Amino acid sequence: MWQPECEAMDGSDLERLQLARLRETVARIAANNPTYYEKLGKPSPDALTSLDGIQKFPLLTKSDLRAAYPFGYACAPRKDFARMQMSSGTTGKPVICPYTKSDIAQWGEIMARCYTAAGVTSDDVIQITPSFGLPNGGFGFHFGAETIGAFYIPVGPGRTLLQFQLMQDLGATVLTAIATYPIRLIEAAREENFDFKKSKLRVGIFGSEMWSEELRKKIERDMGIETFDIIGMTETGGVGMGIDCAAHQGIHIWQDHYLAEIVNPKTGQVVNDGTDGELVITTLTRQASPMIRYRTGDMTRIVSREKCSCGRTHLRIDRFRGRTDDMIIYKGVNFYPSQIETILLRQEGVAADYQIILAHDPHGNETMELVVELAAPLSSELIARIKRELYDYVGLSVEPQFVKAGELPRAPGKAVRVVDKRKA
Ligand SMILES: [Zn+2]
Repeated sequence: MWQPECEAMDGSDLERLQLARLRETVARIAANNPTYYEKLGKPSPDALTSLDGIQKFPLLTKSDLRAAYPFGYACAPRKDFARMQMSSGTTGKPVICPYTKSDIAQWGEIMARCYTAAGVTSDDVIQITPSFGLPNGGFGFHFGAETIGAFYIPVGPGRTLLQFQLMQDLGATVLTAIATYPIRLIEAAREENFDFKKSKLRVGIFGSEMWSEELRKKIERDMGIETFDIIGMTETGGVGMGIDCAAHQGIHIWQDHYLAEIVNPKTGQVVNDGTDGELVITTLTRQASPMIRYRTGDMTRIVSREKCSCGRTHLRIDRFRGRTDDMIIYKGVNFYPSQIETILLRQEGVAADYQIILAHDPHGNETMELVVELAAPLSSELIARIKRELYDYVGLSVEPQFVKAGELPRAPGKAVRVVDKRKA
């Protein structure tokens, strides 16, 4: 552990610390941002006597943050701002997350914990492939690598041949990336005859998109590495809010910095542990842009609040199964792309890329195409099995269309799994 005194803190001490920091956060909002404080109902910080008290506060959405662009939720004097990251959607204004010096140190600290949980030390060589720019990924991995004192290669995304060259010549042992980037590297490695298993690479830390257990197995097999699922978003201060440890029994959230709730996405009510819902995050130590009950849009559940076999006491959530806005409703059936991915990728011969295309036919009926790339031809039995599983597990009657690997368009950045033409 990077900070055993925090990461293995006794559960009741951890809750006391969370409550004290929640009060400090509310006091910070009261002192710096009257509009934000008003939205919370002007609570007296001392009146918060238990963590449940937070449920009185309204949920905060990405559209609230967009509407307050650029600094409507900021709670530090402008002269204390040290840097910013930005998240932009396909529509509307972006969300700006400012950081004070202390916020940057906090970022380095949580990222150092994440690296350590993935078995990364100052002896490692870390290849950082998320971008160094407005999105938060590259810099998060950078601040963490500086904190643990490892040698890092800030290569950023793209330039595949250079990635291979640096990986080989500089002896990279750790690869960090958005979750579908390894698929691109694996594809290119095949063309270039680059063998990951002959490199020194041993650990992959991936996140920022949904990646199923099946995709994970495929990446681990093809690259010969152990992978770790890291979470965190711009709005909550960037990557590093949590990671799965070597036990791989859920993702630890650093509870001394973040208060996690799971709510029913329809009603906004907190659900019981173990029940699926949307992750809601309150930041407990962030200064420039503290978030109270931010709706992340990520669907998950609380796996356990018990001490983990790794020794950490911080609660564990399930790997994200999708986003609330990813849920597809097709002919009355609700499903997530991750469910389709799980069925496809466990079949031998299916490559890692697929696309779901939704549209209307001329009569206004909904249509769905499922285009799947193949690495090798499938037997008719296997095709029948895929169709049966899509029906049995997801409730979909669909005739998958199989194409050769490389035929689907490749988007820069995150993979495009769903094209919904119904809204047009
Ligand atoms: Zn653990």
